[in-house]
Amino acid sequence: MNPQESISLRDLCWYRIGGKARYYAEPESLPELESLLSWVHKEGLPRFLLGHGSNVLFADDGFAGLVIQTRKLNARRDLEAGVVEVEAGFPLPSLVKIANAHGWQGLEFFAGIPGTIGGAVWGNAGACGEQVGDRVSQVLLMEPGGPGRWVEGANLPWKYRCSGIEDRVVASVRLELSPGADPQQLKKKSTALEQQKRATQPYEPRSCGCIFRNPEGTSAGELIEKCGFKGLSIGGARISPIHANFIVNEKDACSDDIERLIKQVQRKVREQFQVDLIREVIMPGQQGGRR
Ligand SMILES: Cc1cc2nc3c(=O)[nH]c(=O)nc-3n(C[C@H](O)[C@H](O)[C@H](O)COP(=O)(O)OP(=O)(O)OC[C@H]3O[C@@H](n4cnc5c(N)ncnc54)[C@H](O)[C@@H]3O)c2cc1C
Repeated sequence: MNPQESISLRDLCWYRIGGKARYYAEPESLPELESLLSWVHKEGLPRFLLGHGSNVLFADDGFAGLVIQTRKLNARRDLEAGVVEVEAGFPLPSLVKIANAHGWQGLEFFAGIPGTIGGAVWGNAGACGEQVGDRVSQVLLMEPGGPGRWVEGANLPWKYRCSGIEDRVVASVRLELSPGADPQQLKKKSTALEQQKRATQPYEPRSCGCIFRNPEGTSAGELIEKCGFKGLSIGGARISPIHANFIVNEKDACSDDIERLIKQVQRKVREQFQVDLIREVIMPGQQGGRR
């Protein structure tokens, strides 16, 4: 497949921020994904795998390589009771609903987390002390120049918001859930959690979820709030008055507005609490890597 050229990244991520991708493609099958990875490798260009962009802040000057968006890789196969295989672009919220409706316990805590299963596995997304990685039995990982390889979930070095997958590409995922639960109970739990999230976090203005990881034993939001930064704004970006660990795109913010707020928060929290806040948001560099 031929990648498209000069595509705006703004409409492809939750933040609605970012310049253009030099090349952009939406593979429709795993062989297509494989050939795109070989092409970009041969061209010596940087690449970025994009799910729903719910945890990404693209740079104002865009991305000088190939952005591969996975939304058309969305096949699902139920292998046996509680065991499901989904391609990387399958939306996590739909998967939660399907698992709940089958009475397969294990994903109900992830209601209200936007994004794809590929992004969720890559970053070991989680909530309420539960992490997606706990439910992954196998991941089909791709690297350029070779076919995908199924890797046992148990062999990945899962940590808080980290799978260890790094530069490899999540093509497909097998999840092992616990069958036999009451679908109504699972749905009730998911609904309650989602309602609680929506009541305590800003959902409407554009964001990337939590901007910083929680430092061990404390909450980043609490430290930021204690600095008196709730509601602080730079340009079109604001630290949410609802939850201080969210920086929202309130009014046509650019990436630079958000980055300046991030740096200001990090400086102040370090000064006041001697704690280094680590970013949770992924900020692709224009030439690849991270900025
Ligand atoms: C309102 C809101 C609430 C949120 N709440 C939570 C929460 O409770 N818990 C939580 O953990 N997160 C939360 N998030 C953050 C975000 O939803 C998760 O990180 C989600 O898993 C990202 O999925 P995505 O498909 O959008 O990934 P993207 O944002 O598109 O990408 C995130 C990272 O994953 C990589 N990636 C994506 N797909 C692949 C792939 N197929 N192969 C390899 N790498 C890939 C990207 O390169 C990037 O580094 C929230 C975000 C928002 C906006």
